[in-house]
Amino acid sequence: MDIGSALSSINAGIGLARTALDARDDRKAKEAVSEIAHQMADVNLWALGMSEHLRKLEAELRDTAAKLAAAEERERQRGKYVLRPLVPGKFVLAFEPVDGDQAPAHYLCQVCFDAGHTSVLQRSNDGVTFNCLRDRGHRLIVPKALHGLLGEAADASAEERR
Ligand SMILES: [Zn+2]
Repeated sequence: MDIGSALSSINAGIGLARTALDARDDRKAKEAVSEIAHQMADVNLWALGMSEHLRKLEAELRDTAAKLAAAEERERQRGKYVLRPLVPGKFVLAFEPVDGDQAPAHYLCQVCFDAGHTSVLQRSNDGVTFNCLRDRGHRLIVPKALHGLLGEAADASAEERR
């Protein structure tokens, strides 16, 4: 039942009641009242169903809004990083602070970030290996020939070890 047919049914019942009252026919009036009560019960069931449907839609809306806010925050975070090939064919997300940034230069694991996790790559003591703490398989080893190409994040990491 939709709202239009529910209202039509009620209006039809009210019309029957008016006709019965105008004719001063108790039997017809009782039938009309019974019909109106029946229609009102149907409308109440319909309204209950719509209320439940509305509650589900509101829950979905809240869930979708939360997902959108998380995606926007993720995109805002992503905007702070530059995709950089640390090793040929293997990338990191590089953060290089500008004036006012409190965070030091660092690299994020690009694989983890794309999967929805933030994992700062940790430079090992050999100075050429960058470890992802979430997944050892994401480790990057920079060939010695490319050490001079390591960015500020790698240099900052090297400074911290001294
Ligand atoms: Zn990772």
